[in-house]
Amino acid sequence: MKESEQLLKLRRREMVEMLQQYGIANRRVLDAFFEVPRHLFFDEDAKELAYNDAAYPIGFGQTISQPYTVAYMTSLLVERCPSGKVLEIGTGSGYQAAILDVLGYSVFTVERIFELYERAEKLFSRLELDIACRFGDGTLGWMDEAPFDGMVITAGAPKEPESLLEQLAGNGCIVIPIGGSYSQQMTVIRRSGNDFKKEVFQQFSFVPLVGKEGWNDTVF
Ligand code: SAM
Repeated sequence: MKESEQLLKLRRREMVEMLQQYGIANRRVLDAFFEVPRHLFFDEDAKELAYNDAAYPIGFGQTISQPYTVAYMTSLLVERCPSGKVLEIGTGSGYQAAILDVLGYSVFTVERIFELYERAEKLFSRLELDIACRFGDGTLGWMDEAPFDGMVITAGAPKEPESLLEQLAGNGCIVIPIGGSYSQQMTVIRRSGNDFKKEVFQQFSFVPLVGKEGWNDTVF
């Protein structure tokens, strides 16, 4: 292994230790964070920054979420819905989708910015990740592939999109940040038949979920 690769691996181990110190305890999640080389989701000249606990711009006004945020959302999902078919809304760099793939989920992801969708799809294919990726408005879900056992929404929503609730499997759950345009409360919505129960967790700050059942795109 080249020296630079070894250094990145060491940085990845440090990132996993930092996640543990911040309270991420799920072993499966921590192992997935060690397995996925986060720097591959960064431009070549920025890969040294990949293991800092920070969000980073990926172009078009969007970001790759900070590792803690991705680990927090993934833990909420894994603890309630350990396997099955998962829909991610907001492909962005593709990192969250790769983490879900390594965890053994069957992953479907939707991105509304064409250039990001195209870049992520090429990367998935180069890394030989079996992730289904689609360009479109994810607030409407992915009807042809429903129902989903789990959903992870990686952009801040004003409220839960009806279409996503409809496409959730009987015992499924959605992890979604809900709130205003600057800060949102991480929320888990669990379905039991036609009943939906909500649990709320800590505050985060996400880019907006823009779409027919999200924020209006004339505002952003
Ligand atoms: N999960 C991403 C990753 O691992 O890099 C980070 C996502 S970034 C914080 C949020 C993404 O949601 C952006 O790429 C944005 O374009 C996308 N987005 C916002 N509204 C969307 C919508 N209605 N449908 C699909 N993607 C959407």
